[in-house]
Amino acid sequence: MATLNRPRLFRAPAMLTAAGWRQDVGFRVDVHGSIEQLTAGTGEAAEVTLPGAVIPGMVNVHSHIHQRLMAGLSARRADQSDSFWTWRRQMYRTLELLDDERLGVLAAWGFMELLEGGYTAVGEFHYPHHLAAATPAESARRILASAAQAGCALTLLPVWYRYSGFGRQPPDAAQARFVLSRDELIDLIIELREGVDDHVCRIGVAPHSLRAVDVADLPALLERVGDGPIHMHIAEQPDEVVACREHSGLEPLDLLERHLELDRRWCLIHATHVPAARLNALAATGAVLGICPSTEADLGDGLFPVAEFLSAGGRVAIGSDSNIETSAAAELRLLEWGQRLRLGQRNVLAADKDGLGTALWRHTARSGADALGLPAGSLEAGRRADFVVLQGQHPLLAGLTPQQQLDVLVTAGMPGMIESVWVGGCLRVSEGRHLDRDALRPAFLDLRRALALSDS
Ligand SMILES: [Zn+2]
Repeated sequence: MATLNRPRLFRAPAMLTAAGWRQDVGFRVDVHGSIEQLTAGTGEAAEVTLPGAVIPGMVNVHSHIHQRLMAGLSARRADQSDSFWTWRRQMYRTLELLDDERLGVLAAWGFMELLEGGYTAVGEFHYPHHLAAATPAESARRILASAAQAGCALTLLPVWYRYSGFGRQPPDAAQARFVLSRDELIDLIIELREGVDDHVCRIGVAPHSLRAVDVADLPALLERVGDGPIHMHIAEQPDEVVACREHSGLEPLDLLERHLELDRRWCLIHATHVPAARLNALAATGAVLGICPSTEADLGDGLFPVAEFLSAGGRVAIGSDSNIETSAAAELRLLEWGQRLRLGQRNVLAADKDGLGTALWRHTARSGADALGLPAGSLEAGRRADFVVLQGQHPLLAGLTPQQQLDVLVTAGMPGMIESVWVGGCLRVSEGRHLDRDALRPAFLDLRRALALSDS
């Protein structure tokens, strides 16, 4: 990934810092892409004067980047019970089109779109370990290379997938490409961790779900490779919660905690059906909950009580998951709207003194960075210079304060409101377009046409 060859001094007319909104901020970025210090004004000539209000780059804690290929192509009702499970069969068919080279094409395109959507770091929940003749390490390295090509920070989360259901049911044919033994997964993670630049990339681990692994096997796995971020799907679908109860007599979260102690390394994805009575204790663990509003809506998962969890001191982050939506602002809007629909109130997730945009953006970006183990998600000394510049001349933003602009982006966002996106002090998106969009387009179009034809 391109990095600065020398420190650079920036100046922003307004900036959402860890301490809140500040006017006329100077900041120096070192060669690792980290902010050295923030100052009021620069006191010296800035090399780069940013044209609009600056906010932290959003952190996306949960992505399956290959699913971008099928976005919108699952919109015909399969039968009366069209559901997550019928969608999943279609998703498995998408994987049949991919080899590791095509996965690389797709991932570079997907990461590029996420950057245009205001994300600067992605947690990739990576489970297509066996594609064509590629080894699991080759497949994983395609993802690492694609993120570097597009220019986003990445936490790669190699997935452990072993079973098709509770009670060690064997995987079916379509799931065979996800399966690794414990030792294969450990070797993969140790190999990938060698030589990784911690400033821009982390390698975590992701037991897929309580149905796809045996929770009793997790302590021994985490003993070996659990010193980084640990992500897991926890309670996405009512059917899997029922299956968990029937198998173990326990709710999914209780089953997990019978074997492991949750802490700040953990990010639980889709805690949708965790019982309300467990929220206080879950918040106290320090684990971040990864909520994926557009995908959870698209798949009919249900709504997690975000408002109550935040009131209990819990931390949440957002994920684009199936990548049917690539705008961070749209994801936050849906997060808030889901709570409004559930509670019959407005501005549910706004902290008292902040507008909704500021409160939501700041909380989720920082929580997300913690969940990915990256020094990002907040514009302060020692953290990465990953940021988004708003287009203050946009008709809906012109004349507003920076705080109002962020409220508009989150509640009424539309194309053209993001002027530029910078990762580690390097420009990736200019005038709303990724610098490599045109170069990446033809290969992605070929793949998309192939999928559309196979689906018709
Ligand atoms: Zn997922």
